[in-house]
Amino acid sequence: MKKAIVNGTILAWDGSRHQAIEAGTVVFEDDLITFVGSLYEGEPVDEIIDATGRLVIPGFVNSHLHVTDTLFTKGYLEETQAPAETKVAPNYHTLYTVLPAVRKASDLDAQLAAAHCVFADLARTGSTTVVELGYDFEIGGDGDIAITERVAEAAGASGLRCYSGPRYRSSYYWGDGQGATYYGDYGAKGQARFEACADFCVNWNGRYDDRLRTLLAPGQIDTCSPEMLRETRRLADEHGLPIQIHGGQSIHEYDRIRETMNMTTVEYMMDTGLLGPDFIIGHGQIMSGDGNHASMARHEIEALRDSLTTVCHLPWVKARRGGVINSIEKYKELGIRQCLGTDTYPFDMFNDMRMASTVCKIVESSATAGRAEDVFYMATVGGADALGRADLGRLKAGCKADIVIVRTDTPKAAPVYDPFKFLVHAANGEDVDMVLVDGKTVVEKGNVKTIDVAAAVKEVNAAGKRVWARLGF
Ligand SMILES: [Zn+2]
Repeated sequence: MKKAIVNGTILAWDGSRHQAIEAGTVVFEDDLITFVGSLYEGEPVDEIIDATGRLVIPGFVNSHLHVTDTLFTKGYLEETQAPAETKVAPNYHTLYTVLPAVRKASDLDAQLAAAHCVFADLARTGSTTVVELGYDFEIGGDGDIAITERVAEAAGASGLRCYSGPRYRSSYYWGDGQGATYYGDYGAKGQARFEACADFCVNWNGRYDDRLRTLLAPGQIDTCSPEMLRETRRLADEHGLPIQIHGGQSIHEYDRIRETMNMTTVEYMMDTGLLGPDFIIGHGQIMSGDGNHASMARHEIEALRDSLTTVCHLPWVKARRGGVINSIEKYKELGIRQCLGTDTYPFDMFNDMRMASTVCKIVESSATAGRAEDVFYMATVGGADALGRADLGRLKAGCKADIVIVRTDTPKAAPVYDPFKFLVHAANGEDVDMVLVDGKTVVEKGNVKTIDVAAAVKEVNAAGKRVWARLGF
């Protein structure tokens, strides 16, 4: 089946950057783009999609998020802070208190209901590739790979492209609610979980017409032993799988690695062989004691840059905690690869693009820092490259037909002078009109076609009541 999208403004990939083509055409056959340009003179197509008054952009590569538990943290995580927390580490006690408690209070049906809802939100707002870092086992409970398998099935049914990474670790943490954190060892249970996750990654990679891929996801840099991280690197190399870890997330984590390893976070990543073009650091916001990226040592900067490691920024969740990423502009100047993710709700990449750009301008006291085009690049090509996918995040012949059509025939959009600035500074997920993944329609006229959204919302409301009753906060 050959289709053409006509009359829209196309953000086409020219090999080094996205370029706007007015009244352009995108042709795709089955799952692949065959033409992007001004004048199409090829074979007739089977169907025409009229994109008049629309922007045609590559689907977002949402490079870090969790679908099963974050919905149930709604109302608990925001606007709370432990007494001892400082300016460098505001609101991090919730990471060590609320999140483990929510996971423990959850159940399989609640997690699946959340996943359906989140996949609908992701599709509706134009994330065509999503990196899902899955269920992590918590204090007093074993993680169950069955949850990961059910969520992977839901991802397959959603029509989205999903990288599924079930998390594992050798130790766990908790907090006292006053700002102090503690660690305990999982022992043999941690190793068993690791093996189950590795088996899942090998066995499920490539399912659903290759829309489902897997990645290795050691839980957090401060909860994984050197042996576990070295084995992760070995498995990644053996099976060609990317790796993503939560790292540079909080000052507690940074201090813990200094205390137990006598290394910085980056030095620990270097020592365990993690760094590489297939390695993503989720968060990467506290990589030095003061949270300023320019404070990293020369050998750390060079190691991140020369290894082509990618840092995945999650600006909304950081800002919500009262913190800032300092900064995207500094990482860019240092030559370190960057991508973008939502982490939590709302799962709307427009929100995180705007937050990434705005926070960067505030931190750098410069209106020219965190430029819209750079942030859009992170949200598309940056994520695709981190996953080793030159065929994603770009509208170009030979790339996957993962395409998002955004309305600009609206009062807030018109007139569009610079499409990048409109997308980053004015648009949001509600402006998405159509979403295609592998050339198949996932969203049409703003409606998700692959998920029963009303049923998902009803289920997750019921699940929330169940989980919150168990939490007893
Ligand atoms: Zn996360």
